[in-house]
Amino acid sequence: MGGKSQPEYPGASQVFALGGKTLFWSTASPRMDPSDMQEWPISYEELTPYYNIAERIMNVSKGYTQDSTLTTIMLDILRGSGFPEVTELPTAVDLSATKFGQVHSNALFSSIAFLGSALNLRPFDLAVNARAVQILSENGSATGLRVMTPDKKSYHIRAKTIVVSASTWETPRLLLHSGIQGKAIGHYLNEPLQKRCHR
Ligand SMILES: Cc1cc2nc3c(=O)[nH]c(=O)nc-3n(C[C@H](O)[C@H](O)[C@H](O)COP(=O)(O)OP(=O)(O)OC[C@H]3O[C@@H](n4cnc5c(N)ncnc54)[C@H](O)[C@@H]3O)c2cc1C
Repeated sequence: MGGKSQPEYPGASQVFALGGKTLFWSTASPRMDPSDMQEWPISYEELTPYYNIAERIMNVSKGYTQDSTLTTIMLDILRGSGFPEVTELPTAVDLSATKFGQVHSNALFSSIAFLGSALNLRPFDLAVNARAVQILSENGSATGLRVMTPDKKSYHIRAKTIVVSASTWETPRLLLHSGIQGKAIGHYLNEPLQKRCHR
């Protein structure tokens, strides 16, 4: 960001927080269009099962916008203006009522709700204020993480399997800083909704 053609956001800051950007998002969750991925090393078909899992967990449906007057008017205008394929906006909103002991009071999905549901499956440890600074490896296999507290104390966390999901900038930065190379790392950077909005 920040090139001459891009808007600037003075005072904007990057937030590091449990829950990530889903703490702030609007919960609209359209899939990327297959045409956006033509130059990608993976196909839309390969992503489809993961879209399906994510949408099930996030309660994505078109129910929230269906039948809304604003949506109906917008869809009519767009369909009559050469966009016959437009549909209601999919949103990650839990529309189920609380019943049979299942609480559905948290309508809007955030990763925090996801961690809460995971606790119902099995216990896990959660380290907050622990910034990953290096992925440790031996003989080409990951062995753990080096993390740092805000007062710069360093700790090692051992792990057999590591999933790096620190977002668009930090994931490739962490991998490259740890000496982990890969053709796709640092390329194809994309944040779907913002990209669509800027078109
Ligand atoms: C205001 C706003 C509205 C949005 N609205 C929408 C929307 O309606 N629809 C949509 O599709 N998208 C929307 N987005 C974008 C969407 O929220 C993000 O694209 C998505 O959440 C990114 O998920 P992620 O898991 O890749 O990264 P993140 O959600 O950013 O999660 C990364 C996590 O990693 C942590 N982290 C980063 N670096 C480290 C490190 N070194 N060590 C340990 N932890 C680390 C961060 O603290 C964060 O918790 C919106 C975003 C914003 C800010």
